[in-house]
Amino acid sequence: MKPSTDLNETLMARARQVIPGGVNSPVRAFRAVGGTPRFVQRAEGAYFWDANGTRYIDYIGSWGPMILGHGHPAVLEAVQKAAVEGFSYGAPTEREIELAEEILSLVPSMEMLRLVSSGTEAGMTAIRLARGATGRNKIIKFEGCYHGHADALLVKAGSGLATFGNPTSAGVPPDVVQHTLVLEYNNVTQLEEAFALHGVQIAGLIIEPIAGNMNFVRASVEFTRRCRELCTQHGALLIYDEVMTGCRVALGSAQSVYAQAIPGFEPDITVMGKVIGGGMPLAAFGGKRAVMEQLAPLGPVYQAGTLSGNPVATACGLATLREIRKPGFFDALSARTRRLVDGLKAEAAQAGVPFSADCEGGMFGFFLLPELPQNYTQVMKTDGTRFNQLFHGLLDRGVYIAPALYEAGFVSGAHTDADIDATLSAFRDALAPLR
Ligand SMILES: *Cc1c(COP(=O)(O)O)cnc(C)c1O
Repeated sequence: MKPSTDLNETLMARARQVIPGGVNSPVRAFRAVGGTPRFVQRAEGAYFWDANGTRYIDYIGSWGPMILGHGHPAVLEAVQKAAVEGFSYGAPTEREIELAEEILSLVPSMEMLRLVSSGTEAGMTAIRLARGATGRNKIIKFEGCYHGHADALLVKAGSGLATFGNPTSAGVPPDVVQHTLVLEYNNVTQLEEAFALHGVQIAGLIIEPIAGNMNFVRASVEFTRRCRELCTQHGALLIYDEVMTGCRVALGSAQSVYAQAIPGFEPDITVMGKVIGGGMPLAAFGGKRAVMEQLAPLGPVYQAGTLSGNPVATACGLATLREIRKPGFFDALSARTRRLVDGLKAEAAQAGVPFSADCEGGMFGFFLLPELPQNYTQVMKTDGTRFNQLFHGLLDRGVYIAPALYEAGFVSGAHTDADIDATLSAFRDALAPLR
C-alpha cells in the first residue's frame, strides 16, 4: 500500500536543492521512465527497502557489483576487520598483492594489473597505455558501448569512415575526440574497412565483449575473431572492457566464454571493475608484462591515485572473489539466471507480447522486440513507452530492474527460486496492459 506521504518524493525534492537533478549519477534520476526514484534505506540479500519501507527484489545490484547479494556475512566481516585496521594509508599493503594475484589467477590473459578506484579511471588509463605502448593516437570504439566518461570516449560516429567522432557531451572539445573512430557493433565489413583505411595509426580497439550498456548484446564469434585478427595484423592492442562482464558472466569473465569458441583467444589489455570491488570503489586494468611495464614508475605512461588499492575496498573485493570461486557458485548463479530468462520468455509468449531475452552467467537482458538486436540502432527500435509501462508495472509489484531500456540486469547468489517465481508472477501481471 502506498503511504499518503511518499518519502521518496520528499527526499527527491530535498536532493534537487543540493545535488544537480537530485542524483550523483544521471540514470538514477528516472528521467527515461518517469516517476520518482526510490531512495534506498537499506539492503539485504536480494532485496532493498526504499524510504517508505517498501521492499524490492533487486535486479540492479549496484549495476553489477553485488554478485553475492547485499551484506554477505563473509564480505561484511572482511570489510569490518579492514576498517578497524585503517581506512587508507597512501602506502602499499599486502592485500593489494593478494587481490592482484586473485584476479590474475581468474583472468590469465593478464600478467600484471594495476588497481584504481573506478571503471572510468581504468578505461581512461587503458587507452593512455595503449597509445603510449604503440606510439599511435587513434582509438576504435563501438556505438552503444560505454567505457566510462573520459573525454576521449564521450563520442558518437562522425559522417563516414574517413571522419572521426563528434562529442556526445558539452565540455568535450572536438579536438579531444578527433582520434576516436566510432563503428557499428557486430559489423565486420565496416571494421575491415576502418583498419584498411587507418590501420597504421590505430593504437587500440576498445569493446564490451557482451555489451551491457545497450542492455545485452553479444559480440558475434566472427566479429570477435576479426577484432583479434585485425588488431594483431595492424599492431593495435585489443582492449576488452570487462568492467561489467568481468567475473560476472563467468568466473574467467567474457574472454573465457569467447576462448571456448576461438581457441587461444586473448585480449591484450583487460579493464575490470564492478564485481572485483564487491560494491566498493575499486577497478583495475591489466595485460602482458611488456605492456604494463610502460606504466610509471617503470615506464613513461603516467597514472596515479590517492585511494588506489584502498585497504577497505581491496578487503571487500578479495572476500567477494573468494566466495564466487567456491565450487558450484557460478553454476548455481547461471542456472538461476537462465531460469529467470526462460521464465520471462515463456510468460511473454503466453501473453503474445513480442519479446526476446538472453543471459550469460549472472547477467541478463530482455527486449520488447521479436528478435535479439545485434547493435545499438536495433536496440533503440524498442518502443520506449511500452518499456516504461513494463518498468513501472514491475516496480509497483516490488521488482526493481534498471530504469532504462538500454541497461542490463543482474542476478545474485542471494536470489532464491522463490524470488524468481515472485518476479515471474509480477512480470505476468505487468505484461497484461502490453498485450
Ligand atoms: C560501469 C562501466 C564502466 C564505468 O565504470 P565506473 O566505475 O562507473 O566509472 C566502464 N565500462 C563498462 C563496460 C561499464 O559497465
